[in-house]
Amino acid sequence: MQLNLFDTETKTKHLVTPHDKETLRMYTCGPTIYNFAHIGNFRTYVVEDLLRRTLRFFGYRVEQAMNLTDIDDKTIRGAIEKGVPLKTFTDPFRLAFFEDLKTLNIEPVEHYPEATAYIPQMIEIIEELIAKGLAYKSPDGSIYYAIRKFKAYGRLSHFCLNELQVNASGDNLADEYSKDDASDFALWKAYDPTRDGNIYWESPFGKGRPGWHIECSAMAMSLLGETIDLHCGGVDNMFPHHENEIAQSEGCSGKRFVRHWMHIEHLLVDHKKMSKSLGNFYTLRDLLFKGFSGSDVRYLLLSCHYRSQLNFTWDSLHAAKQSLQRIQDLVIRLREMKDPAKNPQPIGALLKSADVQFKEALADDLNISMALASLFDLIRDLNAYCDKQAIGEQEASVALHLFAQWDRVLAIFPLQEEEEIPQVLQKLLHKREEARKQKNFALSDQLRDEILMNGYVIEDTKTGVRLKKKS
Ligand code: AMP
Ligand code: ZN
Repeated sequence: MQLNLFDTETKTKHLVTPHDKETLRMYTCGPTIYNFAHIGNFRTYVVEDLLRRTLRFFGYRVEQAMNLTDIDDKTIRGAIEKGVPLKTFTDPFRLAFFEDLKTLNIEPVEHYPEATAYIPQMIEIIEELIAKGLAYKSPDGSIYYAIRKFKAYGRLSHFCLNELQVNASGDNLADEYSKDDASDFALWKAYDPTRDGNIYWESPFGKGRPGWHIECSAMAMSLLGETIDLHCGGVDNMFPHHENEIAQSEGCSGKRFVRHWMHIEHLLVDHKKMSKSLGNFYTLRDLLFKGFSGSDVRYLLLSCHYRSQLNFTWDSLHAAKQSLQRIQDLVIRLREMKDPAKNPQPIGALLKSADVQFKEALADDLNISMALASLFDLIRDLNAYCDKQAIGEQEASVALHLFAQWDRVLAIFPLQEEEEIPQVLQKLLHKREEARKQKNFALSDQLRDEILMNGYVIEDTKTGVRLKKKS
């Protein structure tokens, strides 16, 4: 099966193919590890996981890189405020990110490069851009990309350079006076002791640090080659970040950088983009503390087509939980079938047609609503068969096998016997944390004992507390 995916640049659906005919090389912009990622970020990562899992389900070989931005204004500011080295500041957020990926059942990818490990490669690209006349040094020692020299600038986001607003790139306003053109963006930011403390790298252009955009060009090209098949990110990354990545990479290599662009629409709250700057965000941990599971959140983030905005509400999260409950009820019902059917009826054709619908839906630009519709139609039909005692152990096991196949893509079925941590215990843990904050240690100890009596221990991790089954 092949995947037809909408491409942002051509605004049409294309078949996704590996240009070396073997391995599909895919780059996804990852988090800046200065804080916990919020569930808006995770919408993007969950959809990218759906894409990756679908590709692998269809038989593609995939090599994927997701970067971690461990150097930018925010990480530096955080490290300076705390008075610790950059890595000490970013470590807990790096750890938390990987824990959250696991909770959301996001499959690990092949590479998680970190920007600070790729500074020499960034410097090399910048030198090449200077040599080609595409970049210049400003009076303060920073290096800027002269975007008017790159004729294809705007190709991805479809705008004409003359319409570009001054400083639309969101780069440091304070740097603006030293640019030739206000819309040029920084490749290398000259060291500023007040802003950067003691965080800087040596380079042929002087002390300083890379701009954010160059990080992704360097990591993508170093790990995946000068031309990559698929590049994804949230829609806010399209401009200026991805436009700048094209200018840097193609300006340097002279080759097409990305064959296929995919952008994921935002998760909203009260119809506004969920974002740290607006303060309207929830972390995954916030939702776990309220008693929801990683699967509930994954299902919610997954269940809406990636090119539509998704407005987060508590009702929608409750609805996601209920949908998972319907799946779980049927799985348990099927698992408990231990005898032959009393009134046997063949289900092969039913499963086959559901499977075709499921795969065709995903192959058509990851049409998850249609794919889930075939799942829930099948659940309804199988429940009806169970009611009529029309299926027995053997049919149930064939149906469970199909679900296991689909779950390679969805990753939401409770197919492993291991149980999730009971919600009631998550709630007790939350209450205990509250009690501790209020210094009510008697209550906090009482809640801890209650959790212990239920077979769980409280584990302190660098990123907070969590429950673990008593061994
Ligand atoms: P950032 O850490 O802000 O660079 O974001 C990391 C990734 O999450 C990027 O691909 C963003 O486009 C994406 N992202 C940020 N906010 C949202 C949101 N509200 N909904 C969906 N994706 C988002
Ligand atoms: Zn990026």
